[in-house]
Amino acid sequence: MDNPNHLASVRLSRSSIPASVIKIAFGRSANRCAFPECPPVTLDNGVPLLEVARISSLSAGGPRYSPSLAAEEDAADNIIILCPTHHTLVDKNPEIFTTEKLTEIRDAHFERVQRALSTDQKRTTSNRLADLLELWNEKRTADDEEYWQQLFSDHPEAFSLALEGRAYTLSSKCYVGGKSVANAGGNVLDFLAQHSGNVALVEIKTPTTMLLAPQKYRGNVYAPSRELAGATVQALVYRHSLISNLPALAYESPGLRASQPMGVVVIGDLEKEEMSEDGRRSFELYRSSFRDLKIMTYDELFGGIQMLVNILRD
Ligand SMILES: [Zn+2]
Repeated sequence: MDNPNHLASVRLSRSSIPASVIKIAFGRSANRCAFPECPPVTLDNGVPLLEVARISSLSAGGPRYSPSLAAEEDAADNIIILCPTHHTLVDKNPEIFTTEKLTEIRDAHFERVQRALSTDQKRTTSNRLADLLELWNEKRTADDEEYWQQLFSDHPEAFSLALEGRAYTLSSKCYVGGKSVANAGGNVLDFLAQHSGNVALVEIKTPTTMLLAPQKYRGNVYAPSRELAGATVQALVYRHSLISNLPALAYESPGLRASQPMGVVVIGDLEKEEMSEDGRRSFELYRSSFRDLKIMTYDELFGGIQMLVNILRD
């Protein structure tokens, strides 16, 4: 019978171990010998040279024989993956490599594999976020809304701070109701972020969009720019449209849950826009006055991502 690929060199003892058990053992050991620092040895075809060994032999006279196991099926728990050298070493020195010792070696190996995997995942996340930051630094002054639409579509994690760190799925260009009876018009939102119990409606402008009107309104009062005022009203209209049409929309999209939808507008760049203290106060008062709407600037969004990257790198 042909051996499965990576088991080409497996040396099996008298009764064979079920393939499913072997597969699990190889997976958990990441195709490496359980001995710390044992360098991987592969055959010419790249197949790792490894052997499947029983920690306690099932047959009398075998290494580390355990009568209590003899009648039992081979369990994954009784399996250790070793290179031929270490397999021979442990079988020739049963007084050193007892059942307990081998179990300890095997479990420490599993732990090393797990740790390496989670470090890898951490690195991948921080790489993605670092790529995103690089794009931000390069394109900070891009005034093309399509560019930012695409960037957020490609990197939905960019909204993580605007959505308070909750897990979500992001859909772009979503219809949120508002078509006439003649099926004309309709409100198409930039992004809809669905988290477990609620949705956020996200409207984006560009980082170059001004936040305040160029001229002071009067005294020490500044008005929001036409674009900021427009974007906030637009987000509120979409929110209202979603709530009014929720039964119909939920019928079309059964996963939609929108108990208390929140609007989010991503716009402007506070660091780049030169504001007087009065201007800044007017802006902060304006944005904190909304109940169901959050206004976030691009530099705030990416500043938060920079912090995440720093944390993940530590
Ligand atoms: Zn080894």
